[in-house]
Amino acid sequence: MAATWKVCSACRKPIGFDVDYYACSVSTCNRSRTALFFCSVDCWDAHAAGARHRDAGAVEKRSPKS
Ligand SMILES: [Zn+2]
Ligand SMILES: [Zn+2]
Repeated sequence: MAATWKVCSACRKPIGFDVDYYACSVSTCNRSRTALFFCSVDCWDAHAAGARHRDAGAVEKRSPKS
């Protein structure tokens, strides 16, 4: 089983190493202590709706290799 790097901030599904994930484009959602990670755009959508973001976007990123 692949190692878990983070868990999705919406559905708690594990996000492994060296895979695509999504971050929120809103700067306050990316502070190092409280940074949010999403396994899919759908999960980011759920976050954006809950956080009432306006003009926010999901930023596609790649998790570290190890
Ligand atoms: Zn998720
Ligand atoms: Zn956000």
